[in-house]
Amino acid sequence: MEILVCVKQVPGSSNVKVDERTGLLVRPKMGNKLNPYDLYALETALELKEQFGGRVKVLTMGPPQAKDALEECLWMGCDEGYLITDRVFGGADVLATSYTISQGIISAGNADLIICGKQTTDGDTAQVGAETAEHLGIPHLSNVTRVIRIEDGSVVVEANQEKMIVKERIKLPCLISMDSEVNTPRLPSYRRKKAMDDSLIHTLTFQDFKDQDRSHYGLKGSPTQVQKVFPPEKNSERTILEGSPAELSGKLHQLLSDRKFI
Ligand SMILES: Cc1cc2nc3c(=O)[nH]c(=O)nc-3n(C[C@H](O)[C@H](O)[C@H](O)COP(=O)(O)OP(=O)(O)OC[C@H]3O[C@@H](n4cnc5c(N)ncnc54)[C@H](O)[C@@H]3O)c2cc1C
Repeated sequence: MEILVCVKQVPGSSNVKVDERTGLLVRPKMGNKLNPYDLYALETALELKEQFGGRVKVLTMGPPQAKDALEECLWMGCDEGYLITDRVFGGADVLATSYTISQGIISAGNADLIICGKQTTDGDTAQVGAETAEHLGIPHLSNVTRVIRIEDGSVVVEANQEKMIVKERIKLPCLISMDSEVNTPRLPSYRRKKAMDDSLIHTLTFQDFKDQDRSHYGLKGSPTQVQKVFPPEKNSERTILEGSPAELSGKLHQLLSDRKFI
């Protein structure tokens, strides 16, 4: 059983900068961390490996420093890492990112089960998992809270679908995105860190991909255009309401409906 976890390196603080001229994210070289939501995906994969055997590969797309995120995953217990990095992939929107990741998964030798996090703390679209699966032509399910078992070429899971918890059987290969706080992610092992073998992390560039059409990657493959980037307007205007509780609630209701909040 081959499990592949997709992880992203995100800025360590919520102060994400955007280049005002190009509209692209400015990725800091230092102070990055593993996307916290991906820790639940990693823990799920490692528990499945302990239960059913197999191997856990971990893959990330990002600048060269994203290798640090892969190292951390290997210290946690993953067997092999894949870093997708190339200037050709720069400026990718979600469509181009998920397409690039799908090509990377093919180059990494595919997997029976692909596991993603719920969302990231910087881009935050929660679309990469589903789009990657669509590019690969495999089934997918989001908000998975528990993997119950793997049997007869399928995975049986529980997923949180807003008003109810559903139990689904999905044929492998498939992609699932884990909900948050579904387990307690393990800490990286100091022993694994000391014994770390660098050759377990492979770099994948455009040259390694099956699809050699450059127009499918990076800015060229991104239909999303950022027109303008600006900080949100500060509004320090205050209105103080006075009167009895009944008058106050009436005034508040009027104010909110005038501003079209209700
Ligand atoms: C026009 C435009 C230009 C952009 N330009 C750039 C740019 O120049 N540089 C840049 O870094 N970003 C850029 N971005 C942002 C980039 O598209 C997103 O970072 C990327 O699509 C991931 O989306 P997300 O963070 O919302 O992931 P989500 O969909 O919220 O993530 C869900 C899950 O998918 C997986 N996942 C997400 N991203 C990755 C990844 N990179 N590798 C592996 N697994 C992943 C993880 O498991 C994650 O938990 C741009 C976006 C737009 C719209």
